[in-house]
Amino acid sequence: MFSVAIDGPAGAGKSTIAKKAAEELGYIYVDTGALYRSVGLACLRKGTDPADKDGVVAVTKEISVQLKYVDGQQRVLLSGEDVSDDIRKEEVSMAASLVSKIPEVRAFLLDLQRKLAVTNNIIMDGRDIGTVVLPDADVKIFLTASAESRAKRRTIQLREKGEEADEQAILRDIIQRDYQDTHRETAPLKAADDAELIDTTEMTLTESEKAVVDCIRKGIERK
Ligand code: C5P
Repeated sequence: MFSVAIDGPAGAGKSTIAKKAAEELGYIYVDTGALYRSVGLACLRKGTDPADKDGVVAVTKEISVQLKYVDGQQRVLLSGEDVSDDIRKEEVSMAASLVSKIPEVRAFLLDLQRKLAVTNNIIMDGRDIGTVVLPDADVKIFLTASAESRAKRRTIQLREKGEEADEQAILRDIIQRDYQDTHRETAPLKAADDAELIDTTEMTLTESEKAVVDCIRKGIERK
């Protein structure tokens, strides 16, 4: 099996780019953020503070999180219910970032991620894929961009969907999530030593996709 790990901060375009690259190469795309979002959503639904470690750990004991693929698209199931749309709400992003600090939550989701790579050619995106989940991935990419350009892209994306978006508030959220993700003790966001760094600040989406696909193709040739 061939595995590609793509890590990077929120809003760097990982999911859009990884999804496209997976389609082009015929690989399965695994969005691991969806798993942390599902745990965050479960806490919000149960009225558990996502920052309350014991409460969150208790929630993980009552739920199951699974991924399934429908026409090649990932769907995430929370205790059997398809929550793929509900987990995209902004309040769930912050809850996901908070619960992802908790080592027990990370351990709860680890096996599921690793097992997918055993039986599939995959492109997996997240924060700790190249460092913790798949340390032996065939290709590792660290995809990043400045916080300002990530906030701008996210604002445009929301407005295109007809949703209201306050660019300054989005920027503040991105900076806070970056801080939480890079400063946590367990599996913090950081580039693996052997990751290829791709900074998309000055790139268009098409250029970023090309840079990622080229990098993966080189890896395939090497193998
Ligand atoms: O990628 P996405 O923005 O959907 O991830 C939501 C949150 O889940 C991130 O802010 C991060 O805290 C957490 N996460 C993580 N490890 C991963 C994927 C996501 O800690 N592999």
